[in-house]
Amino acid sequence: KTYNDKTVPVHALKGINLEISQGEFLSIAGPSGSGKTTLLNILGGLDSASSGKVNIGDKTITNLTKTELTNFRLEHFGFVFQSYNLMPVLNAAENVDFVLRLKKLPRYKRKEKVEAILNAMGISEYSNHLPSELSGGQQQRVAIARALVTKPSLVLADEPTANLDSETAKSLVDIMEEMNRKLNVTFIFSTHDPLVMDRAHRLIRLVDGKIANDKKK
Ligand code: ADP
Ligand code: MG
Repeated sequence: KTYNDKTVPVHALKGINLEISQGEFLSIAGPSGSGKTTLLNILGGLDSASSGKVNIGDKTITNLTKTELTNFRLEHFGFVFQSYNLMPVLNAAENVDFVLRLKKLPRYKRKEKVEAILNAMGISEYSNHLPSELSGGQQQRVAIARALVTKPSLVLADEPTANLDSETAKSLVDIMEEMNRKLNVTFIFSTHDPLVMDRAHRLIRLVDGKIANDKKK
């Protein structure tokens, strides 16, 4: 991936060749600027590579039209961001419900799914709370619930614990790991926190846009 929007081209990713299996619990680690966000965005079809392909299952997503890609993302992926990205005027349940509305599911089915995932994430008692009434850790749980409610095969989380204290970060990784195991959903999360990367079952280290190390535990 090369960014050409600056005066000097930035080669953000170079020669990435990567195969990830369903159900992996994988961390992309590396210092700031090493290409973590770029890689996650390309894997998730939020950004396009300058060359190369991304295959998800039997689909080459780099060949899809914009509309096909949008539908594919909605069907198969969940996204979690560093700053939670919840809608401030919607409560926890409404934030989670939002993606199900995009999928045009009937109201009673949506309600069932929202309640089940908030419960699984241990935050059902906060379903009527606005993001501003929740702690950082609780907001990120809502964001993970929103990512999981559509039963995606893959969740991409860009530095999900970066704004959390270490105790809260640990319990967030705990619940991500539990969901990974229970639902067999693949998790790919980026981090530069050693405590968080240590918890991954596979750790890929990026240095200057290249894979410096790829280790399974
Ligand atoms: P990380 O998430 O590991 O901090 P990024 O993927 O954000 O790394 O960035 C990788 C490199 O690409 C950095 O050198 C960054 O400055 C550059 N970069 C990221 N986004 C853009 C952009 N939109 N335009 C130009 N350069 C960018
Ligand atoms: Mg980043």
